[in-house]
Amino acid sequence: MRHSIVAGNWKMHKNAQETSAFLNELVNDLPNDKEVEIIVAPPFTSLLIATQQLEGTNIGVAAQNMHQAEGGAFTGEISADMLTSIGVDIVILGHSERRQYFKETDGTLASKVDTALRHNMRVIFCVGEELKDRESKQFQNVVYYQLKDALFHLPKQAWENIVIAYEPVWAIGTGLTATPEQAQEMHQFIREQIAHQYDQTVANNTSILYGGSVKPENAKEIFSKPDVDGGLIGGAALNAKDFSAIVNAI
Ligand code: PGA
Repeated sequence: MRHSIVAGNWKMHKNAQETSAFLNELVNDLPNDKEVEIIVAPPFTSLLIATQQLEGTNIGVAAQNMHQAEGGAFTGEISADMLTSIGVDIVILGHSERRQYFKETDGTLASKVDTALRHNMRVIFCVGEELKDRESKQFQNVVYYQLKDALFHLPKQAWENIVIAYEPVWAIGTGLTATPEQAQEMHQFIREQIAHQYDQTVANNTSILYGGSVKPENAKEIFSKPDVDGGLIGGAALNAKDFSAIVNAI
């Protein structure tokens, strides 16, 4: 069901000790009167600490990536089973840094999504255009094909476990944020494409998050847009006060 979500993507930040200290602070700072799902996505080495430390709280734990194979000779990789065995049942897939630096294609991502869903995980699937796509007015086209090639093979009922994060690549870690109007325009477009491919109910039930330089100062305005259901937060998720303030902005 569509609902508000604020998720923190820690990227390659925070070792085990830093994770523990941060989560202690976060649990104290977070508002508990908000109807919002809160998720943290620490690096693999901190996932077990996070699931243990957050047990009994309202904060969920996500992985930032996983491999599509069930297991095997894939040195350095982590499987869905490994994640669920430590209580991690959410995974971020398709982040632009995975696409850019690790050459993940929509085809690979489609397999990863299938594997995650087979393991009853929820997927936060990232889409977003580069600056050149925005400048050449191809941004909707680019996002459409990311959705189509990685997600539109799924049966309708699988969408219960899909969250979309729209993250314009030019706004990630740059301090440039899409205007609330640009975010709304794309979120509405994404919802329309889901409705077109499936039906209006699936589209209305899908949570669509915005990501890219969301800060306590701009969160409220972005979150106030009708098709924006929350945020995927990078830099500002590394500071407990900032992350809590963003949760409060919902
Ligand atoms: P940012 O990152 O908030 O630091 O721009 C967002 C993301 O990459 O998910």
